[in-house]
Amino acid sequence: MSMLKLHNLSKIYRTDEVETVALDKVQVEIEQGEFVAIMGPSGCGKSTLLNIIGMLDTPSDGNYFFMDEDISDYSEGQLSEIRKHNIGFIFQSFNLIDELSVEENIELALLYHNIPSSERKARVAKVMDKVGIAHRAKHMPSQLSGGQQQRVAVARAVVGDQALILADEPTGNLDSAHGQEVMEMLQALNDEGTTIIMVTHSPAHADYARRTINLFDGHVVTENLRAAQ
Ligand code: ADP
Ligand code: ADP
Repeated sequence: MSMLKLHNLSKIYRTDEVETVALDKVQVEIEQGEFVAIMGPSGCGKSTLLNIIGMLDTPSDGNYFFMDEDISDYSEGQLSEIRKHNIGFIFQSFNLIDELSVEENIELALLYHNIPSSERKARVAKVMDKVGIAHRAKHMPSQLSGGQQQRVAVARAVVGDQALILADEPTGNLDSAHGQEVMEMLQALNDEGTTIIMVTHSPAHADYARRTINLFDGHVVTENLRAAQ
């Protein structure tokens, strides 16, 4: 089953004087259940690609099919509906809300869904257990280490049973031990069927993915498939 398909997708940033082609007729197809790494030098279009896949930004040209539905011309409201129910995000800088506790940060991802409060609490408790942060439920993000904050971000990304996780350099701010922990969490989620697309600069972390898409100057230059471990 197709998770998503980008057909001749381009993104051009226009300011008064300059035009930057961030993505140039990109063709990408990702199946449900895949774990894909996106690599390439700074400025090659990785974040732009991830933002478009995550419906945070829209293409200038070409088509985006999400679960076989052509969403290229959808309004911001329509895109945000699809995003909230299907996609979880993990960022390099964790992006937790400083004023909310661990459990509140995670619960926030469920407020858009029509779920009664008691079930929300049960789901949050379950996912906190899963990522090993339950003992810090009442802590504020500033009271946590980077490794712990990223666990909270992973919990927030998956608490709504999202089918697709987008991770933009999820280990970029972590030391190697905590980075590896986050990679193992992503691998466990993928083993359970969650589709994962991750931007990374780390070849070792890209090795967790089955497939690597290499970008250069807005083009897909190569794709590497790894044998199943
Ligand atoms: P990467 O994530 O691989 O570093 P980006 O997707 O951030 O690459 O950027 C791709 C290209 O698009 C770069 O040349 C960058 O300067 C440009 N770009 C990215 N975002 C914007 C923007 N909002 N306005 C103008 N140019 C941008
Ligand atoms: P872990 O290895 O579990 O990620 P650390 O060994 O880095 O955690 O931190 C141990 C404890 O110290 C954590 O449980 C956390 O509560 C506290 N701690 C770590 N970093 C900070 C910080 N920057 N500010 C406040 N407390 C912190």
